[in-house]
Amino acid sequence: MNVKKELCMLCQTCAAVCPTQCIEVTEMDIILSDDCNDCGICARACPMGALHE
Ligand code: SF4
Ligand code: SF4
Repeated sequence: MNVKKELCMLCQTCAAVCPTQCIEVTEMDIILSDDCNDCGICARACPMGALHE
């Protein structure tokens, strides 16, 4: 999974729904770790359409 950082508003929804806890959202940035299994749950949950394969 990849993130378009210009669209991300750091709402933390993706981090909350990720089953492998591989998204970290801080006040300043969003970081995706290598543990992602491309399940797509975060992309479907993101209100901004910021997550894509
Ligand atoms: S695709 Fe799945 S495992 Fe990867 S970051 Fe999104 S919710 Fe987490
Ligand atoms: S759900 Fe979307 S807008 Fe919210 S923190 Fe994740 S990538 Fe950013």
